[in-house]
Amino acid sequence: MSSSFSDFKTLYSKIVNISEATSLLFWDQLTYMPEGSSSARAEQAATLQSIVHELSTGNEMKDLLSKCEAEYASEDENGDTRTMLRIARRDFDRGTKLPASLVEEKSRHSTLAYNTWVKARERSDFDMFAPVLKKTLELTMREIDLLGYKDHPYDALLEESEPGVTHAQVKAVFSELKPALISLISRIKESGNSVDVSCLHGDFDLDKQRALTTFAVKEIGYNFSMGRQDPTVHPFCISMSPQDVRITTRYDAAYFSAAFYASMHEAGHALYEQGLPLQYAGTPLCKAASSGVHESQSRMWENIVGRSREYCTHIMPRFREYFPSFSNCDPEELYRAVNCVKPSFIRVEADEATYNLHVLLRFEIESALLEGNLDVDDIPDAWDSAMEEYFGITPPSDAEGCLQDVHWTGGFGGFPCYTLGNVISLQLWDKLSMDLTDPKQLILNGEFAPILTWLRENVHSQGMRYQPFDLVEKITGTKITAKPLIDYLNNKYSEIYGI
Ligand code: ZN
Repeated sequence: MSSSFSDFKTLYSKIVNISEATSLLFWDQLTYMPEGSSSARAEQAATLQSIVHELSTGNEMKDLLSKCEAEYASEDENGDTRTMLRIARRDFDRGTKLPASLVEEKSRHSTLAYNTWVKARERSDFDMFAPVLKKTLELTMREIDLLGYKDHPYDALLEESEPGVTHAQVKAVFSELKPALISLISRIKESGNSVDVSCLHGDFDLDKQRALTTFAVKEIGYNFSMGRQDPTVHPFCISMSPQDVRITTRYDAAYFSAAFYASMHEAGHALYEQGLPLQYAGTPLCKAASSGVHESQSRMWENIVGRSREYCTHIMPRFREYFPSFSNCDPEELYRAVNCVKPSFIRVEADEATYNLHVLLRFEIESALLEGNLDVDDIPDAWDSAMEEYFGITPPSDAEGCLQDVHWTGGFGGFPCYTLGNVISLQLWDKLSMDLTDPKQLILNGEFAPILTWLRENVHSQGMRYQPFDLVEKITGTKITAKPLIDYLNNKYSEIYGI
């Protein structure tokens, strides 16, 4: 290792350490921080973030990157050293393209936009939110121009969350998915069949829910000696390093699924973070491949495993042990209840079948805004007509329509990863099923270790070595495609709804 590369690694790990310490402050803020401490905490976090920005984009990093790139130019471009340098170069270039003044303006604006959005949503008043959304769009367009792109302005935003993935690629996958989903949902609706969800509603003691979710996430492999689970308002997973990955859950005494499936979801994220290659800790390789790949892991454990017939059969004795009310419900009823499809206005409450259409709708609106084909003032009409076309329902108010998500207070480009996660999860699952022969039997037996080991070897241990779509192709041998997801949803819901 050259002395420049050694210095580069030292500097990079310093940045990682400060970022991870900032994450711990953030975790504390969202869990146990006293209410009156928020302004001091904001200052602390902002100071650490500005130190990270200075170190990441400063002259020392610039010089070390240039020196290392020259020194290692003849080495294998897919070897560890050049891969680390490539990831660090990408981050450096993106970080230096945006002037500090724009980053600050965006940050200040997002605080204002958030406060306005909270009030506008309360009053269901889109006109109140429209001026700040116009400003968000203007700032985003300035950012996109500075970052640069080849074909579509959206490409510049995707590069942040899904490196190497383009708007055209996402659009192609979503176009494959859209007619299949619209058809499935309308067939379910026309069938007039419904499922009984009463077993999920009742009075579920919170301490028992906590004990049960702890059991369930531990059983699938979440390591509590390097993690913990705490209550919060909006569940999330946060990593301070692969050796400290924490999950949070929201408990609802009246609705069983809220905490249970949020725990499975966040544990899926956490298993990925706990499985990142520890030998590369403090380097660019010890990071997840993308937001979409991350979401593929959470969705896989939450839905493909957690909402399977086999899992419902396996877990039922535990449910009954903690909550005797489940004695009145058999595993088949539970399976149907946790897979109820109901077109609804709110994305975060949507089921597995309708969820992706919510994401597609937002992606289409964002794309049209960035292309200049839609005015901010016309968003409510565009939203409502898409809801009618895709789900056959019209939101009674903007609060239940275009004002429901917090995302547009910070910018655009964050939604596609949710559906890409579902697409990737099924593509990976099909390959996993071939390799492990019969994962359904494993789930039925409560043997989750072979599934986790497969994910560790194929996905987690790769860290950020490959760009997300390349990683999927490398593992599965096929290019990104929505077909496995479409087949999975059609098979599952045709049987449940008898269509
Ligand atoms: Zn997630």
